[in-house]
Amino acid sequence: MINEQIGGILIISGPSGCGKSTLLKEVYKNVNNYYFSISTTTRDIRDNETNGVDYFYISQDEFKEDIKNGHFLEWAKVHDNYYGTSLKPITKALKKGKLVIFDIDVQGHEIVRKKLDNLVTSVFITTPTLVQLESRLKNRNTDTIEVIKGRLENAQYEIKYFQKYDYLIINDDFKLASSKLVNIAQIARSKSTLYDKENMLEQWNK
Ligand code: ADP
Ligand code: 5GP
Repeated sequence: MINEQIGGILIISGPSGCGKSTLLKEVYKNVNNYYFSISTTTRDIRDNETNGVDYFYISQDEFKEDIKNGHFLEWAKVHDNYYGTSLKPITKALKKGKLVIFDIDVQGHEIVRKKLDNLVTSVFITTPTLVQLESRLKNRNTDTIEVIKGRLENAQYEIKYFQKYDYLIINDDFKLASSKLVNIAQIARSKSTLYDKENMLEQWNK
């Protein structure tokens, strides 16, 4: 039988507040055998977040120590805070054939693409306009006006990278956007380079 040999990676990026976490909840309901990569961050925990579920929250000193010890597959400084993806759990999940889902920024996407291009399917998500991004961030009510200002500035930098991604989803109508993301997550498992070529040919020629 021809089997998928290794897991795949689905990278989601997009300006903070565009709806990534809300859309991903629909993916979790509709996709099997996935592993959500829990990032490590130095930013403050929000009221609705849980340590070890949304992120691992650590100090800047601890983060720098982890960088020195080579613990991260990738890391980046975003809005004055550090964010990183730990290597170990990713390697383990990939070996188990899982679809590993990353919610990381454009810098992280570039690094993972360079290191693990064969495994990656990537999606850039955004609101239809910057104005709508601002109103979503304000409605979410998790950040101060100062923090929102920083996120909007960063959004204007991030949006320039959308063509580095395989797919673009404009999250206007939530139902439509979530069905697109679920479809992409499902099809990510069929990426040809996830198959071991020698094994595929050996099985096919039997
Ligand atoms: P991110 O994870 O990208 O920072 P969130 O998932 O926290 O963004 O979404 C930001 C806010 O926008 C939340 O309050 C969420 O309920 C809302 N939201 C998400 N998608 C839509 C949509 N299509 N239309 C209107 N509001 C949305
Ligand atoms: P937030 O503070 O809103 O949770 O996330 C801010 C930004 O950091 C988002 O663009 C998110 O995708 C990015 N991010 C979260 N975790 C990581 C990570 O591990 N690595 C990188 N490079 N970016 C991350």
